Amino acid sequence: MPCGISSVWKNHTSSHALASEVGSGSGTRRWVCKYCGKTYCTTRTRLICHVSGLGGMGIGACTAVPSEIAEAVQKENNLAKEASSARRRESAATSIDLLEEAEVAMGGVGPSCSKIERCILDCNLSFNVLTTDAWKKMIKAIAQVGPCDNWHGADYNRLHGPMLVEEKERIEQVYGCSILSDGWSDMRRRHIINIMVSSCLGIYFLRAIDCSKYHIKVAIQEVGVENVVQVVTDNAS
Ligand SMILES: [Zn+2]
Repeated sequence: MPCGISSVWKNHTSSHALASEVGSGSGTRRWVCKYCGKTYCTTRTRLICHVSGLGGMGIGACTAVPSEIAEAVQKENNLAKEASSARRRESAATSIDLLEEAEVAMGGVGPSCSKIERCILDCNLSFNVLTTDAWKKMIKAIAQVGPCDNWHGADYNRLHGPMLVEEKERIEQVYGCSILSDGWSDMRRRHIINIMVSSCLGIYFLRAIDCSKYHIKVAIQEVGVENVVQVVTDNAS
């Protein structure tokens, strides 16, 4: 029996309709298993996993499929020999697919939004990133690009190469800043001062200085005496 898209759906489901939710893959269907009567919303691959009686890829094995049909499905798709390795591969990629299917089913936030949120979680980015002006400007810029398959956003090589140099130059061009300091003691009871520089670009950490060896004026000299408008000696208060 040919294993075309339509035959698999036709043979093993009592109903199947393309999932119309925004964000579901083109092959995702909402289907009812012909054997056990359960409803799923997956691609063809997981339908096959289900009716093969093996399960896997995050979908359970059908408990009602006749064994001769299950075996035929397994044979047709070489599932028997792949089942064990597939189970081992049941990893991030599968989970992501499933999460996407789940979130479509739950009718949660838009898929684009959840992909952004997932990126933040996956990359351990601080949630505060979302409240920054830089973030809001970035989102606006991405939205302005619009749908465009050939655009892949920031370039890795540029980011850790020329961009760093450009950004350093840009920050150094800023004049009129405040130096903020915040004293604390480290485990060896050395008195340390964190030096931050505040300007119209935002606040950035400059360095921590050991007060027994350096004076705050080292930081002022580093930033440039002519650039420093004020020094805030106790940042907290
Ligand atoms: Zn079933």
